[in-house]
Amino acid sequence: MTTALSAPAALRARAARLDADDPMAPLRARFLLPPDVVHLDGNSLGPLPAAVPAALDDVVRRQWGTGLIGSWNANGWWEAPLRVGDAIGTLIGAAPGQTVAGDSTSVQLFTALDAAAALRPDRPLLVTDPGHFPTDRYLADAVARRRDLEVRRVEPADLPRFLAAEGHRVAVVSYSPVDFRTGELYDMRALTGAAHDAGALALWDLCHAAGALPLDVDAIGVDLAVGCGYKFLSGGPGAPAFLYVARCHHAVLETPLPGWTGHADPFGLAQEYTPAPGIARARIGTPPVLSLLALEAALTAFDGVDLADVRAKSLSLTGFLLDCADALLTPLGFTSVTPADPARRGSQVTLRHPHARGLVVALAERGVIADMRAPDLLRFGVNALFTTHRDLLTAALRLRDLTRDAAYDPAPPAAGPVT
Ligand SMILES: *Cc1c(COP(=O)(O)O)cnc(C)c1O
Repeated sequence: MTTALSAPAALRARAARLDADDPMAPLRARFLLPPDVVHLDGNSLGPLPAAVPAALDDVVRRQWGTGLIGSWNANGWWEAPLRVGDAIGTLIGAAPGQTVAGDSTSVQLFTALDAAAALRPDRPLLVTDPGHFPTDRYLADAVARRRDLEVRRVEPADLPRFLAAEGHRVAVVSYSPVDFRTGELYDMRALTGAAHDAGALALWDLCHAAGALPLDVDAIGVDLAVGCGYKFLSGGPGAPAFLYVARCHHAVLETPLPGWTGHADPFGLAQEYTPAPGIARARIGTPPVLSLLALEAALTAFDGVDLADVRAKSLSLTGFLLDCADALLTPLGFTSVTPADPARRGSQVTLRHPHARGLVVALAERGVIADMRAPDLLRFGVNALFTTHRDLLTAALRLRDLTRDAAYDPAPPAAGPVT
């Protein structure tokens, strides 16, 4: 007679098997993860890549300390926004010369929204997701005010229908392929196609997608895109973001912040602004070199990594966590808000529980770093480069124990800043 394994034992055996068979397991050594911590918040702040400390030390001591101002040329500081942009381009399916890195996501987003609206001057509508990340919503409103446009908030699922009816009046649609709260993944290709069928431009915010799944901005025909450097790209706190503009728009691209580093002849001191050719015209001012070069070093964690493999492992991880949640957490009042369908799932799992904040605080005290989104969502981000199935089971078991034993403060004091 065989004894059925208990749910945790069966999950433990499955995690061990999946981790043992994982061809990406060695990539975890490319990150300096603290021992005994399960880091499931890489979608908010990626951990420290092993290549970064030495690279930053070189930038500070040798390039800056010794090379001084000569490093703008000798160490390639001037070209860094374009070079790092191209490195990110390889992760989002952009051929070289269309991506620039250097300013924050919010700044790049403002640039992209305003420049997109300028490319469709005869159209009065800016369409965006009512559930978009706050900065995306605020900046859409700000650009609309400046340009006398009307913002329409349309759920991604309703976007094709909306465009079929009113698309001829739409300048740009601004969406994220992954909902930052639920982890739901939308069909970028289909929505970009729907925008184009209406003659509108498609602007994508790739903060929760770049480095997490294969992207193909060139092939899909994305017009503009932005994304974070500090989430799945692990470029460090406040890492520069990126802006992609499809080559077909470069010749007529007008950005709202035509700073001197985007000038065709930045050292010519001309009275009038003449934009540089290509994506360089989207540069603004002196770039944050230390942060840019930290990000450049961080991106080497992706060297030789196929994003199709990243996606396959990410789905295995999120699928496993959903199964853990089903077995261990739903009986305790958690519900999953992340689609079970892998085709509709980004690289995170989100669970709903009325005490989300208290549970996340208590989990962190027990070495599991997740985060929450008000009022009741617990978010667990997975990054195929370093997350293991065992990490996820550990998180689910600790969460089960905490909840079962009521070993947490259901209403802890409001946390400080957590993005
Ligand atoms: C993280 C995130 C941002 C962050 O913008 P910052 O300017 O870096 O603070 C913006 N948009 C989305 C969709 C995000 O997920």
